[in-house]
Amino acid sequence: MSVRVPAKVNLQLSVGPVRADGYHDLVNVFHAVSLFDEVTATPADGLRLTVEAAPHSRVAVGGVPTDDGNLAARAARLVAARLGVEPAVALRIRKAIPVAGGMAGGSADAAAALVACARLWDDRDRPALTRDDLMELGAELGSDVPFALLGGTAIGVGRGERLTPALARGTFHWVFATADGGLSTPAVYAECDRLREAQGRAAAWPRVSEDLMTALATGDAKNLGAALDNDLQAAALSLRPSLRRTLAAGREFGAAGAIVSGSGPTCAFLVANEEHAADLAAELDGAGVAEQVVVAAGPVPGATVV
Ligand code: ATP
Repeated sequence: MSVRVPAKVNLQLSVGPVRADGYHDLVNVFHAVSLFDEVTATPADGLRLTVEAAPHSRVAVGGVPTDDGNLAARAARLVAARLGVEPAVALRIRKAIPVAGGMAGGSADAAAALVACARLWDDRDRPALTRDDLMELGAELGSDVPFALLGGTAIGVGRGERLTPALARGTFHWVFATADGGLSTPAVYAECDRLREAQGRAAAWPRVSEDLMTALATGDAKNLGAALDNDLQAAALSLRPSLRRTLAAGREFGAAGAIVSGSGPTCAFLVANEEHAADLAAELDGAGVAEQVVVAAGPVPGATVV
């Protein structure tokens, strides 16, 4: 049972005040792009997990846990517990989504493992898990997991896990510039809080950007590029100042929008069309401002059996 699952980029990531439970209230506009991990589940005598780079991808998988630290393993255990079966499965993860890159690769693998295991352990003697069941299990694993199941373009509120699909027209073309070494998401949030405190700036209550919604609904890449907004960008740049050069290079080479993806360090560039994406990718490659440059398009569907 193989499931393909996309990476995400945040078109808007607005970080509100810290809540009593330590999480921030967020407004997140997620957009799934055509950069895919693949998770294959086969019956085994216990839970096993392997991780490798996808063919033709240069993702560094060295730091990815192969024990229960891997979100996909936790997803398999959760499905098994819910169905009352043994988690007897071998999971093979092939990664094309950068690790700790701000593109929710771990959450994507968890979503794929939920779908793959639910299918693998489907048995006509008990009711099958529904899409809603999987969304609920996904939310238990992490706030980005439900979106990896859903895909497309969606607005997430709360911790990001309460999702509403957004109206989006056409296809948007992207170039992603990965960086050497990841950034820890909790560290980026902590830096965001620290910068706000140092500047004496209280966090505003987050709201969905109307300009962004209009640009999406009309399929206007130029306006969408201008409306991209990420409250974590300043924190990611503070922790990784070299990203300034990467963003500047993309703007200089004519990107309609240039933004740090999620908690970084991957930088995302929105361009007008596929041809421009190839040109920009070549320019960024030549400028030596990225570890790896990949082109992708969005929106694409969420975790899908292949
Ligand atoms: P986000 O955008 O959700 O903040 P990210 O893309 O920055 O996430 P991930 O690639 O999801 O980061 O990985 C963050 C950390 O999670 C990794 O450093 C790794 O230790 C751990 N991890 C657990 N499971 C996985 C997985 N299946 N793939 C990659 N990393 C995983």
